[in-house]
Amino acid sequence: METKQFKAESKKLLEMMINSIYTHKEIFLRELISNASDAIDKLYFKSLTDDSVGMNKDDFEILISLDKDNRTITISDNGIGMTKDELENNLGTIAKSGSLDFKTKNDLGEDVDIIGQFGVGFYSAFMVSKLVTVRSKAYGSDTAYEWQSEGVDGYTIEECDKSKSGTEIILKIKDNTEEEKYDEYLEQYRLQSIIRKYSDYIRFPIKMDVEHQRKKESTEDEYEKFIERETINSMIPIWKKNKNELKDEDYNTFYKEKFFDYTDPIKHIHVKTEGTATYNALMYIPAKAPYDYYTKEFEKGLQLYANGVLIMDKCAELLPDYFSFVKGLVDSADLSLNISRE
Ligand code: ADP
Repeated sequence: METKQFKAESKKLLEMMINSIYTHKEIFLRELISNASDAIDKLYFKSLTDDSVGMNKDDFEILISLDKDNRTITISDNGIGMTKDELENNLGTIAKSGSLDFKTKNDLGEDVDIIGQFGVGFYSAFMVSKLVTVRSKAYGSDTAYEWQSEGVDGYTIEECDKSKSGTEIILKIKDNTEEEKYDEYLEQYRLQSIIRKYSDYIRFPIKMDVEHQRKKESTEDEYEKFIERETINSMIPIWKKNKNELKDEDYNTFYKEKFFDYTDPIKHIHVKTEGTATYNALMYIPAKAPYDYYTKEFEKGLQLYANGVLIMDKCAELLPDYFSFVKGLVDSADLSLNISRE
């Protein structure tokens, strides 16, 4: 089978990921779950206007499974999937969204920092994996394809068997080294806590087969193991929670994850309004101006959500110019979503 090469830019990012000394390697799971959730969003939106999709909101899920003996974690979604071309184009190049930031940062010569600063997406899988396999079937297509890569040496693509549309990402976890214990990612409780920490508000259930123990019936002190499929995330976005349930720390953690900042904000403002317009807003005042604040490239704006679904990443109209340093989001139930996201 032919091994294809990554584009130069991607190769560089990959190299950084593989040799990363970044301490928060656990974010690989957040990145892959967020891709899975985006893929489900795409098919869910299609299903709203196209009856032939035949899926309801409750049918969608992200499944995380663990195989300790084979050192694999599998992240599966029943979203829109990828065609052969999409596998090649989307995974063989740095995503458009991140690449510009990547270049800017790279020119400053602060290679490693970008991991903390920006979403790095799919390639973060290589921080913890020695082999990444992506099996995907695009919605509406008959053929599924398998993309596989051990890192910088390139990747292969071939046909494979997969009955349902969607994507399955299989990570073969690296072996432990002196400095780094990769084994921790093969622990059920560790994965559960990473999911709750970063992906709690994902709107689709993230399920895991969780092992429990219970007392055997009719015995006093004998236990048996049993497995139950559980939803790990609460699916409630932080801005929809009650203020009295939330601590400063929750707000700050969310801010740092969401807006790629290292530093706690100096203030958060959480508002819930009902009446002619019903919306929740969560806004933050960052401690420091973003590095591109005084450049032409800087875009002000708040994220705009309709009922928990992201519609626009930077809605400029929501912020007057003199508040352009404010970060945050507005979620309203009053926006119609039926035709297109915009
Ligand atoms: P980003 O998510 O910022 O676009 P990524 O590198 O994480 O960048 O992903 C690149 C692209 O690959 C995505 O934009 C998407 O088109 C595609 N992709 C990744 N994961 C999936 C998935 N689970 N299902 C469908 N498409 C996916």
